[in-house]
Amino acid sequence: MNVICSYCQQPAELVDGTVIYPDRPDLHHKRFWRCDPCEAHVGCHDPNPRFGYDGTQPLGRLANEGLRRAKNRAHAVFDPLWRSGRMTRVQAYAWLAKKLGIAVEACHIGEFDEARCLRVVQACRGVAEAIRIPQRTRARSR
Ligand SMILES: [Zn+2]
Repeated sequence: MNVICSYCQQPAELVDGTVIYPDRPDLHHKRFWRCDPCEAHVGCHDPNPRFGYDGTQPLGRLANEGLRRAKNRAHAVFDPLWRSGRMTRVQAYAWLAKKLGIAVEACHIGEFDEARCLRVVQACRGVAEAIRIPQRTRARSR
């Protein structure tokens, strides 16, 4: 597997969690693609023979600190839409893709840049209120 850094276009390095999160023993067995000069990384899908995943498939593009923060914010507002059970995950992504004007196949927060993550936050703001997602559900998800 070959992964290219989304910032410098150089090959990223496959490392384990001891490099990325030395203080988090619970994450040491996880694998990450890392670009040292760009201080960017991305996690990997857990191994899953059903999908042909061997534990090295990246979850999305490499992200630096700013983008990681933006993605976390986007997930924090978007995930409750389907986690709450008010819509299915498929429906939620279809809605988001329409809002962003992109194909649903391309609608993966892990692949978005900072500007698009911000648009997710804007799109979801108000919707959570409109479909009355309980406060507790919203606080629990990241
Ligand atoms: Zn890089």
